[in-house]
Amino acid sequence: RTATGDASAPATAEGESAVDLLGGLDIETTDDVAVPDRLIDQVIGQDDARDVVLKAATQRRHVMMIGSPGTGKSMLAKAMSQLLPREELQDVLVYHNPEDGNQPTVRMVPAGRGREIIETHRVETRKRGQLRSLVMWLVVVAVLGYALFVAGEPLVGIIAAAIVFYVFRVGGRTQRASVPNLLVDNGDQQTAPFADATGAHAGALLGDVRHDPYQSGGLATPSHDRVEAGAIHKASRGVLFVDEINTLDIRSQQKLMTAIQEGEFSITGQSEQSSGAMVKTDPVPTDFVMMAAGNLDAMENMHPALRSRIKGYGYEVYMDDTIADTPETRRQFARFVAQEVARDGRLPAFEAAAVAEVVLEAQRRAGRKGHLTLAFRNLGGLVRVAGDIARAEDAEYTTRDHVLRAKRRARSIEQQLADQYIARRREYDLSLVEGSVVGRVNGLAVMGEDSGIVLPVVAAVTPAQGSGEVIATGKLQAVATEAVNNVSAVVKKYARVDLDEMDVHVQFVGAGEGGVDGDSASVTVAAAVVSALEGIPVDQSVAMTGSLSVRGDVLPVGGVTYKIEAAAKAGAKTVVIPAANAQDVLVEAEFREQVDVVPVSNISEVLNVALVDAVEKSSLLDRLSAYAPAPPGRDRNR
Ligand code: ADP
Repeated sequence: RTATGDASAPATAEGESAVDLLGGLDIETTDDVAVPDRLIDQVIGQDDARDVVLKAATQRRHVMMIGSPGTGKSMLAKAMSQLLPREELQDVLVYHNPEDGNQPTVRMVPAGRGREIIETHRVETRKRGQLRSLVMWLVVVAVLGYALFVAGEPLVGIIAAAIVFYVFRVGGRTQRASVPNLLVDNGDQQTAPFADATGAHAGALLGDVRHDPYQSGGLATPSHDRVEAGAIHKASRGVLFVDEINTLDIRSQQKLMTAIQEGEFSITGQSEQSSGAMVKTDPVPTDFVMMAAGNLDAMENMHPALRSRIKGYGYEVYMDDTIADTPETRRQFARFVAQEVARDGRLPAFEAAAVAEVVLEAQRRAGRKGHLTLAFRNLGGLVRVAGDIARAEDAEYTTRDHVLRAKRRARSIEQQLADQYIARRREYDLSLVEGSVVGRVNGLAVMGEDSGIVLPVVAAVTPAQGSGEVIATGKLQAVATEAVNNVSAVVKKYARVDLDEMDVHVQFVGAGEGGVDGDSASVTVAAAVVSALEGIPVDQSVAMTGSLSVRGDVLPVGGVTYKIEAAAKAGAKTVVIPAANAQDVLVEAEFREQVDVVPVSNISEVLNVALVDAVEKSSLLDRLSAYAPAPPGRDRNR
């Protein structure tokens, strides 16, 4: 190891130095890391998507990106706009049409010319306006003078002067009508345009004509002046980015498709009651490359014709959630921190040890051994919070300690909710993590995406009057029923009782406040039911998660890392997890010392850990092992 100075000091729990965590990068701070100029070169991971964007840019093809939020979809769309040629950009002007005021004419000029034209018109109008007022005042004075001093009719004079005034004013307005409206201004555009139409309403997407309350008569604003460009027009010869494409209403999706097909789209008022709806311009170019994005169900709700349009004339690409954790990718993550620092512009540079801590967090958030998360928006949030803490302290650099504090602070709403929830439960003594109780098991669940909670399950078994029932609270009925059915298949093999003839009551203590995922509770339900059935107490310092198969196998579940941390926070001593999840566990060092993690592969192992030692327990486990489901290998040989 060639680590020098500070960088080698803070060894991680795995015994890796900061230099290791940076993939051998020997830097003191992120100031030593070069940030590429082009956005496309800043994108980390997403090799497929990057190739697609490079290819699509040369061929001007549409792209559909499907994947998790914050993995770089809008970044790639912006990158695409930097890759498209800038040369042929245009400005769009809208003119008053003297033949039909409701059909403004449209004219395209090279980028930059639009402003010059407007300016020329303005100067001219101003000059003419000045001349006009001069003439007007002369006439007014003349009329008044004549009426007062020659004819001696002051009233007639005032009326005549007012008429002159009005006629000149209305004339002035028609004058102003001759100034065109600069609809699309690409004068300052350094790259091809980029328009983000995510969540845009119809007017913002397709263009609009503002309502004019006066509509007619001398006071009306000429219709061409009320025309506004939509994102589809601003994006012409550039990129139109639409995230969450499925949330666009169907009518807008249809019109979007028309714009793609025709390459031009007339602007009209979008609200039917408005006077703008009478106005319709000449077609305005909409020659953009569409970059649509969304998550998997975006595909389902998307207008099928639009989808096939993109598919037929472009590419579809799936975004990765994680990337293999190699020295090379670690070095890229160091560059990521440097990029975010540069992008923000106010954050102090990160010390190597601080960057290493970000890499560790990326490992943890990947939820998969040997991988780093590509959910960069959230990771960037951590970088910014850490930098802000450092800045608030006037620190020269952001240190490892700042990052550690930021981690505590930059918790998601779900995590904050879960923490509050835990605190409240402590008050009401809902979470019991000591002693032993029959029929009560500390289960573990995930709230939101990234925070675990302890969710106790209590079961009671009573003889049924007719055929047995599973009685559970609320939405979790289905979960409980399935878990009980699966465990009853196991129970049937060893026990004298038939669960089908019993009523099984299952209660999820304190559930119903958050989206508890059901499947991962089935091992918990099973353990609680067996405990209740056999009358053997469950050790309350044990918490568990896992999905149970009919054969009694414990199958993998999601969010294991978060669940283990929740168990540790609540004070549990042992956490039972599916053996298949063992490699996903990336628990923070502080929790690793607090709990024992026990990977298991079938229900008898679960019971062995969870039930307190008693004569009944050994007898139960003996019976169970006699009927233990045969490993798949043996099955096949038979
Ligand atoms: P999405 O559109 O997929 O929701 P964004 O492109 O808006 O995500 O990402 C948000 C921010 O996160 C970006 O501005 C960038 O700073 C960072 N980011 C996202 N993905 C990447 C990536 N693959 N490489 C580097 N930075 C990224």
